[in-house]
Amino acid sequence: MSQSIAVIKGDGIGPEIMDATLRVLDALDCGLDYQFIDAGLTALEKHGTLIPQESLDTIEKLGIALKGPLTTPIGKGFSSINVQLRRHFDLYANVRPAVSFPGTRSRYDDIDMITVRENTEGAYLSDGQELIDDGNTGLSVIKVTREGSERIVRYAFELAKNNGRKKVTAVHKANIIKTSSGLFLDVAREIAKEYPEIEFQEMIVDNACMQLVMNPHQFDVVVTTNLFGDIMSDLCAGLVGGLGLAPGANIGEDAAIFEAVHGSAPDIEGKKLANPCALLLAAAQMLDHLGMNEKGTAIRRGIRDVLERRRDMVTPDMGGTGSTDTFADALVEQVKAK
Ligand code: ATP
Ligand code: MG
Repeated sequence: MSQSIAVIKGDGIGPEIMDATLRVLDALDCGLDYQFIDAGLTALEKHGTLIPQESLDTIEKLGIALKGPLTTPIGKGFSSINVQLRRHFDLYANVRPAVSFPGTRSRYDDIDMITVRENTEGAYLSDGQELIDDGNTGLSVIKVTREGSERIVRYAFELAKNNGRKKVTAVHKANIIKTSSGLFLDVAREIAKEYPEIEFQEMIVDNACMQLVMNPHQFDVVVTTNLFGDIMSDLCAGLVGGLGLAPGANIGEDAAIFEAVHGSAPDIEGKKLANPCALLLAAAQMLDHLGMNEKGTAIRRGIRDVLERRRDMVTPDMGGTGSTDTFADALVEQVKAK
């Protein structure tokens, strides 16, 4: 039986990198059936809304979406589509692998880690933000629940277990923010006991940032609350050479959405300069999630091989002389040869 997935091509360079990605998925015979849905600017033009109900229904029915970058028009009262999707489907886990690839400008080689960020509570509550004292005092609530902490920490351990990873590091500030961060750490310690085969480490966030910069190879899976996770996942992307190769997943109980971390890059739209790798790596994460780890690995290995050997085929952002299409050609050839 084939697996149906919802596909949002997205805005700007979205359609170009999605076409390249789907060509590689097809070459791998993943048995996926694509149901194309509208969202973003294209949806706004066609349906008068950034996310039509029909699109939400399709994601709800299929449970899996691969999403190109979406533009939220600025200053017209629209709230971010990505945030809307996250809220609608309660996508509590933001999962961002940071893996070194050849040919990237970065400080370290051989980094291979994943940050798992809690995505629904912490310091990022839509209510819980208040200006008082005639606008002279800003108040932001930090809310951490046992349930929210349990599910994110459990997700991190399951991810480690299912992917042969050895260690989970819980990052916190429990020494100062004793209530919320303290609760998160307590829960992490409890859940860790259920996974004796996986090493558990706890680290205070300021030290974790220093350690990341000085000795990033000690990290494997990092799990943390919303604000720390937001900052640390971009720090990790920077460690491996920036957002060009950074995929991400937003995962809930009933739905999961896989995407590139970068935006719609309207400055290079239609020029065939867009690097499809971040979206392809998101597709690889999706294949892992669907239990097709070998196919996911084939994509990652293919990207590595092409970056190493076919500089003429890769896009200029990676120092190559090729285009989105030649990059896809090379990857298709590479994954078929294996
Ligand atoms: P948005 O408003 O959707 O965030 P953006 O232009 O800010 O769009 P970013 O991803 O933030 O998009 O892009 C920042 C810069 O990185 C741009 O100059 C863009 O051309 C470049 N860039 C982003 N993604 C890619 C890619 N996949 N390939 C090549 N260059 C990219
Ligand atoms: Mg941007």
